[in-house]
Amino acid sequence: MTTDYDVIQIGYGPVSKVSALLLDRMGWKVGVFERFGEFYPLPRAVCIDHEVFRMLHANGLGPIADAVTDPTPPYRWFNADWKELLTIDWSGASVSGSDEVMFVHQPSFEALLDAEAKRRANIDLHFETECIGFEQDADKVTVHMRDTKTGKETSCTARYLIGADGANSLVRETLGITRTDLGFEADWLVVDFVLKEGLDATQLGLIECGQYCNPARPTTIVPGGTDDGRVCRRWEFMRLPHESKEEMVEEAKVQELLGDWIKPEQGDLVRHALYTFRSLLADEWRKGRVFLAGDAAHLMPPFMGQGMCAGLRDVWNLSWKLDRVMRGEANDALLDTYMPERRPHVSDVIEASMFLGSIICIPDEAAAAERDETFFSGKAPPPAPFPILTDGMLARDATGAVVAPAGELSPHGTVRLGRRTARFDSFVRPGFVLVTTEDLGPVSPEAQQVLDALAVTRVEVAPRVTARDDQVADTQGMILPWMETQGIAAMLVRPDHFVFGGAKDATALETLIAELGRQAQALGLMPATEETLVSA
Ligand SMILES: Cc1cc2nc3c(=O)[nH]c(=O)nc-3n(C[C@H](O)[C@H](O)[C@H](O)COP(=O)(O)OP(=O)(O)OC[C@H]3O[C@@H](n4cnc5c(N)ncnc54)[C@H](O)[C@@H]3O)c2cc1C
Repeated sequence: MTTDYDVIQIGYGPVSKVSALLLDRMGWKVGVFERFGEFYPLPRAVCIDHEVFRMLHANGLGPIADAVTDPTPPYRWFNADWKELLTIDWSGASVSGSDEVMFVHQPSFEALLDAEAKRRANIDLHFETECIGFEQDADKVTVHMRDTKTGKETSCTARYLIGADGANSLVRETLGITRTDLGFEADWLVVDFVLKEGLDATQLGLIECGQYCNPARPTTIVPGGTDDGRVCRRWEFMRLPHESKEEMVEEAKVQELLGDWIKPEQGDLVRHALYTFRSLLADEWRKGRVFLAGDAAHLMPPFMGQGMCAGLRDVWNLSWKLDRVMRGEANDALLDTYMPERRPHVSDVIEASMFLGSIICIPDEAAAAERDETFFSGKAPPPAPFPILTDGMLARDATGAVVAPAGELSPHGTVRLGRRTARFDSFVRPGFVLVTTEDLGPVSPEAQQVLDALAVTRVEVAPRVTARDDQVADTQGMILPWMETQGIAAMLVRPDHFVFGGAKDATALETLIAELGRQAQALGLMPATEETLVSA
């Protein structure tokens, strides 16, 4: 069966751009259709996290990630009297070896991704082309488009379709997929301002990054990345119950709100827009050959800075699975793990965002005073740890329960091999990786068969000072201490950097590899043995 493309993507937001680049790298032909003449040029996301930063680096997009990220100051939350309620220190080393969070200027990020996509021969970009519908059969999806200038209608085919078409997704609507509302809704005026050359937040006496939880006007004050060397700043002002949406976007209102923080002569107002922050989760993420990703699948309030990150995680999760299935190296069931892996994860992220939102979105003085008291008396719960994978392709015990540390993001850092020092990911080929400490010997021939069938790269990690030339030296100290904390001497890492499972010794490693083999066979990732064929 020949199709025009391997994958068609509707929309050309950040999620679609990264998806196209990932799929292109794996050798697939991608057709992207965007209804506007260019991608959305104004800032929305202002930060990305360490996992996304690592993913970009691991996929040849490191120079882009490096070029658009700025280090993050502590994220500080204050009450109306500027007493600190909580601080989230994002600048510390994350499990990925970089800062937890980095600030970005979304249009600069997207511009570099776009330039890269335009250089790739396998990516066809179609602007001013709106998707108006599609249908699918057993072999392909047929997508219908309309040229937004001429009105001319055309159709294209692909093996798979990804709806990365944002919050009002036509793909989702066409599939009749409903969304669950997790219960958050608030209107915020978002204002972006570029400081005059040479100015920065500290010179202006601004807090660098924080939330001013003043019930008289809950306000977010954060960096907005750097645009062509100029410092961008973001303010977000919550609409109060007595204010109308229309009034919030009037120029005079914007100036009045900004006036408390900055003078017009200190820079340029880039834009202002009123957003309704919501918490919505699609109830299905796949129907046949069609998938949802990014804002099409989930919406969240921005207090964790995770909306775009979640979308980039979606396509990172989906791309390696599509790759294996399209290569004939896995069966369709692998694609069914997309939603069980991604939906609970993003649902937890939305809940965490809503929790932060519940701290700031309080327009009532008495309720705010009560909140302050909870923090000052130490009764406020600490922020929950960042979600991990809880379902899907993860090591399980005999009862089917996921066994820790399965589902954790694997540790990553700078390492040395021989005379080269670089990011760990740059030493291993894409795919499954078995990381072991040095005292674990060779595995049994049966286990080796599984590792060979899945082309698992085995890496022996040793401490920096004692590592031999053929071992990976844990120079940044990110990998071995993490494994020690988990009580493991080996871990199997999936192609998307999540831990499939860990083992405390050589015997447990045999069991873990057998479990990988069992699941890999069920998903068609490796040929079934006679034994499994018989039991099937
Ligand atoms: C104020 C604010 C602050 C935020 N801060 C952060 C942050 O700090 N960190 C973070 O990670 N996220 C943040 N986000 C969220 C982030 O901006 C979004 O999650 C992200 O941009 C969504 O990307 P997307 O590619 O899924 O969708 P979009 O960027 O919305 O792209 C969808 C594209 O699809 C196109 N399209 C739609 N329908 C069709 C059709 N029928 N045919 C063809 N094309 C179509 C649209 O024109 C659009 O270009 C923030 C959002 C807001 C509003």
